[in-house]
Amino acid sequence: MALEINPKRLMSRIETMASFNATPGEGVTRFSYSAQDIKAREYLAGLFREAGLEAVTDGVGNIRARLAGASEDAPSVMSGSHIDSVLHGGMYDGIVGTLGALEAIQSIAESGERHRHPLEVIVFAEEEGSNFGSTLAGSKALVGAYSPSDLKKLKNPDGVSMYDMAKAAGYNPDEMPSRRLRPEKIKAMVELHIEQSVVLEARGVPVGIVEGIAGIKGLLIRLTGVANHAGATPMNLRQDPMAAAAQIISLVRTLAEGSGTGSAVATVGRISCSPNVPNIIPGEVTFSIDIRDVRQSGIDGVLDGLAAVAPAIAASFGVTLEIIPVSESAPVILDPGLTTLIENCAKDRGIDYIRMNSGAVHDSCMIAPLLPTGMIFVPSRGGRSHVPEEHTSPEEIAGGAALLADVLLELAR
Ligand SMILES: [Zn+2]
Repeated sequence: MALEINPKRLMSRIETMASFNATPGEGVTRFSYSAQDIKAREYLAGLFREAGLEAVTDGVGNIRARLAGASEDAPSVMSGSHIDSVLHGGMYDGIVGTLGALEAIQSIAESGERHRHPLEVIVFAEEEGSNFGSTLAGSKALVGAYSPSDLKKLKNPDGVSMYDMAKAAGYNPDEMPSRRLRPEKIKAMVELHIEQSVVLEARGVPVGIVEGIAGIKGLLIRLTGVANHAGATPMNLRQDPMAAAAQIISLVRTLAEGSGTGSAVATVGRISCSPNVPNIIPGEVTFSIDIRDVRQSGIDGVLDGLAAVAPAIAASFGVTLEIIPVSESAPVILDPGLTTLIENCAKDRGIDYIRMNSGAVHDSCMIAPLLPTGMIFVPSRGGRSHVPEEHTSPEEIAGGAALLADVLLELAR
């Protein structure tokens, strides 16, 4: 059965949310614990009250707003996303999933449909890492991956910790261990989110059902040679790390393109060179490598290829090579049963969809290892996100929220 949602109400709320913004006219900037964040939370609190949801906020600012079910002992069905943004970001990232979840749950309440399980909107704090450079910090604190002492170590550029900022905003981060998400109390989590890429638009499909979220391996490559005169040093007597870097960067692309999984991607996005002078052969070149895949074997394939070939390239140029691991997160496979349920609801509603993977991380990555978790994507115009031009049409947002409502009701019956 297909539930009616109220697309006009949803869009007007999304527009109001965008008004809580530190950079009007230059995209949306709403960092966790800022004045704009506090205003957005006051607005949300009013919406939750109006919809009959009971909201509680934890020690870092994650909000859980609950609509009672026929059975109070039954585990709840949860949906939501984040409300913080990047600097000069868009108005849909996170918000579509947060207000979409509220719209879905409010519509279920208004439909009078009986549901045994309670329904919960979850609002995650500090997803983007805008304050402290650490993504998913709110959801990590919720699942216990960050302890209060970890929160003291996360600092913003002014040296203020997440712990102190949460405290100044009126929360009690010391409470987090006792407020941790209890998986046995949640039946399932479904997050609606904008795709932030071009796949749905290119395929002309309004909905993506996410099967997996890519893991990431971050590396730093340091090549050290001998800085010398660009004119006086013959080619055969050089130890030029830039020439070696060029071949290794090209190798990275070849390895990703040839990965056995067919889904690996690898990027060299930052390079630095010393002394960085036109008429001096560089002494040192360092660059980043970001490798992602929904299958660990794809990431490992690129890493293995790099380890096998890059040392020989470095040696052939007479330079030394260091491969330095910087960061790592494992791929996440979402619940296949939930993926099928979302698929069946899309079919029932006559919504065209594809199954796909996510190259971006989401709060659901932290929830998925603990309980059945699913994600629904709606298209991003031009694939653009984290920019002021970020756009998803009202029809696409309404379609995603309506599908979410069907899925949540099915789970909560
Ligand atoms: Zn997001």
